[in-house]
Amino acid sequence: MDLELSEEQRLIVETVRKFVRNEIAPLEADLDPDATELEPIDFERLVAQTKEMGFYGLDIPAAYGGPDIDIVTRTLMAIEMAQHRAGLYTPCYGVFGGAGLAQLFEANDDQKERYLFPTLRGERHGFFGLTEPSGGSDPARAIQTVAVKDGDDWVLNGSKIFISEADRADYGIVFARTDAAKGRAGITCFLIDAGMPGFHVRRVVHTLRSTHYATELQFEDLRVPAGNVLGEVNKGFAIANDRLSRQRIPYSAGCIGVATKAQEMAIAYAKQRETFGDLLATRQGVQWMIVDNEIDIRTSRWLTLAAADKARRGVPFRTEAAMCKLVATEAGGRVVDRAMQIHGGYGMTKDLPLERWYREIRIRRIGEGPSEVQRLIMARDLLGGSFH
Ligand SMILES: Cc1cc2nc3c(=O)[nH]c(=O)nc-3n(C[C@H](O)[C@H](O)[C@H](O)COP(=O)(O)OP(=O)(O)OC[C@H]3O[C@@H](n4cnc5c(N)ncnc54)[C@H](O)[C@@H]3O)c2cc1C
Repeated sequence: MDLELSEEQRLIVETVRKFVRNEIAPLEADLDPDATELEPIDFERLVAQTKEMGFYGLDIPAAYGGPDIDIVTRTLMAIEMAQHRAGLYTPCYGVFGGAGLAQLFEANDDQKERYLFPTLRGERHGFFGLTEPSGGSDPARAIQTVAVKDGDDWVLNGSKIFISEADRADYGIVFARTDAAKGRAGITCFLIDAGMPGFHVRRVVHTLRSTHYATELQFEDLRVPAGNVLGEVNKGFAIANDRLSRQRIPYSAGCIGVATKAQEMAIAYAKQRETFGDLLATRQGVQWMIVDNEIDIRTSRWLTLAAADKARRGVPFRTEAAMCKLVATEAGGRVVDRAMQIHGGYGMTKDLPLERWYREIRIRRIGEGPSEVQRLIMARDLLGGSFH
C-alpha cells in the first residue's frame, strides 16, 4: 500500500495544474461569470495543446484511441481540472475531450458506427434519459415510459424529466419498461434520434447550474427500430447501474477539486485580511474553519482514490463509489460554504468563483443518486441483499 503519488503521477498532476492556472483561469477574467463555453478560437487552441500533451480524450479506452491513463491517475487529473470557476460541471471547458456516454462502448458494431464513433469524433452529442416525473432515486420501480413491440419496431410512450441538455443533443439513451411484471428485470435501453417523429422536448427546466438546460421530454408513439435496442431486451437496468457506479468517481473528484481551490483561496485571504487590529489567520474561529476544511478535503480525497484504485484493479467497488460520492459531495459543499464565510462580502460576489461553486455543488447531493440513496446502496452491501 503506497499513499504517495508515483513520479509519473506527480508530473502529470503538475502539468495539468499549470495548464489550469496558466491557460484556463486567465481566460475566465474576460468571460461572463456563468459562462460554460470558451471563445471558439481559444477552444481550438487549447484542444491542440491537450492533444500535444497526449491527454486528449482521457476517458476513451485505449482500444478506441484514448491515451491509456489508468483511472487513479485520471481521478488525480480530474481533481486538478475542476479548479477554476466553471470547473465543477465544465472542467477546462471540455478541451480535454470527452468519451461521451459510457454505455455506448457496449453497443454492437452497427450502433458503434452510428453513435459511438461520431461521438468520439465530436460530431454527435447524446443525452442520458433515465429519470421520470415519477422519481429518479428508484428508477427500477419508477419508470413508467413503456415500449411495446410492433413488427420490427418498438413504440415508446411516456416522459422524462431533468434530462441534461437533451434540447441540444442529436440522440439519447432512453430507458423504458418492456415487461410490466418484472420490475428492474423489465427495463430496456433504447438509442433514440432527436429527429424521430414522436420525440418532443417539452420544456427547459432551469436549475441552480449556470447556463445549463435540464429538459422535460415526451415520447408520443415514438417508433424505434429493433436495431436501436442497446444491449439485450429487459436487461437495460444493468447498463444504467454500471454507468452510475463508475460515474460516481469523477463526480466526487470534481467536488474535491473545487474544495481544494476554495481552501487555497480561504488560506490566502485569511493571511492578508485584518479585522480588529489583526489578521483573520490569527483568529481561532477562522483557524478551525480552515482545519475542518482540510479534514473534509483529505477524507474525500482518500475515499475517492480508494474507490478508483479498486476500479483500476477490476474488483467490486460499488460501496466505495457510493461512499466517496456521499462524502465528497457533502464535504465539498461545507468547504465552499466556510470559504465564503472567511471571504465575507467578497465571497458573495461574482468577482470570485465561490458563489458559482456554492450553487452548483448543491446539486451534487441529488444528482447521480441523492445522499440517502448512496447510504441505501452501502447498507445493501454491508447487510446483504435481503434487508431492503
Ligand atoms: C441539474 C440536474 C441534472 C440532471 N440530469 C439528469 C440526466 O441527465 N439524466 C437523468 O436521467 N437524470 C438527471 N437528473 C435527475 C437526478 O438524477 C434525480 O433528480 C435524482 O436521481 C433524484 O430523483 P428525484 O429528483 O426524482 O427525487 P426522488 O426520487 O423523488 O427523491 C426525493 C428525495 O427523497 C429522498 N429519498 C429518496 N429515496 C430515499 C430513501 N430510500 N430513504 C430516504 N430518503 C430517500 C432523497 O433525499 C431525495 O433527494 C438531473 C437532476 C438535476 C437536478
